[in-house]
Amino acid sequence: MTADPRLLSAFLRQVAELGGPDLYLEDRTVGELRSLLADPKAHDRSADQPRRRGTSTGAGEAPATERAQTLPRPTKTMAAQAPVPSAATPETLQTLKALEEAVAVCTLCRLHATRTRAVFGEGHPNADLAIVGEAPGRDEDRTGRPFVGRAGKLLDLLLMTAGFPRENVYICNVLKSRPPDNRNPLPDEMEICASHYLHAQLAAVAPRVIVTVGRFAVQALLDTDAAIGRLRGRIHTYRETPVIASYHPAYLLRSPNMVVTAWEDLQLARTILDEQS
Ligand code: URA
Repeated sequence: MTADPRLLSAFLRQVAELGGPDLYLEDRTVGELRSLLADPKAHDRSADQPRRRGTSTGAGEAPATERAQTLPRPTKTMAAQAPVPSAATPETLQTLKALEEAVAVCTLCRLHATRTRAVFGEGHPNADLAIVGEAPGRDEDRTGRPFVGRAGKLLDLLLMTAGFPRENVYICNVLKSRPPDNRNPLPDEMEICASHYLHAQLAAVAPRVIVTVGRFAVQALLDTDAAIGRLRGRIHTYRETPVIASYHPAYLLRSPNMVVTAWEDLQLARTILDEQS
């Protein structure tokens, strides 16, 4: 398939023309994002915006300089949908259920004392693509579901443009409990959660490609401290599964000029899957 950034701008144009969803990028509308995607060098106001979670997701990337004035007419529509995964085996469903039940009552680290609800993860239990984020935020802590806030809406849009409706993807986080005030995950929290839950969860789903979003997610799977900017664009390996390291959608909300880059990362994941089939 063609990795053409105009696909995303075309899709967002269609979304805007259809009147939804009500996606705001800090104080941006879908229409503004569409302009930014038309010109990735468009003005980046992220420096004016407060950061929510410390250092997590790709800080230090190049700021863009000027605001897009025009919107070139896109020539393509969004990517064809990836094949729907087949049903999971009873063993997989049983393993995921047992893990989820354990997570719901887990007290292995300090975060259990401050969480509202544990967030195990959700999606297709036999997904070809898994997204691994870092930790639940406020909306996730309240609902018990991963990536349901504004960052999640952007993730959903990006996934859709690469041909992955959310329900066909498996989505989880390294940490299953929200760190207070969205602070960064601590090393012992990551170690406990990954060793007791994340690795087993990914082994049960057995995705054919994993996309990590944000620094802590890639750290958990690849044991690296490198910045996303250095890791992205290449195929890494976690227990024989290809891993694409990408930016966290919360970072993209602050730096919309980087959305196209993250979109390219999903295109790479899609290409890996297409080539395997
Ligand atoms: N950020 C994450 O890393 N995960 C979520 O589920 C939500 C926000």
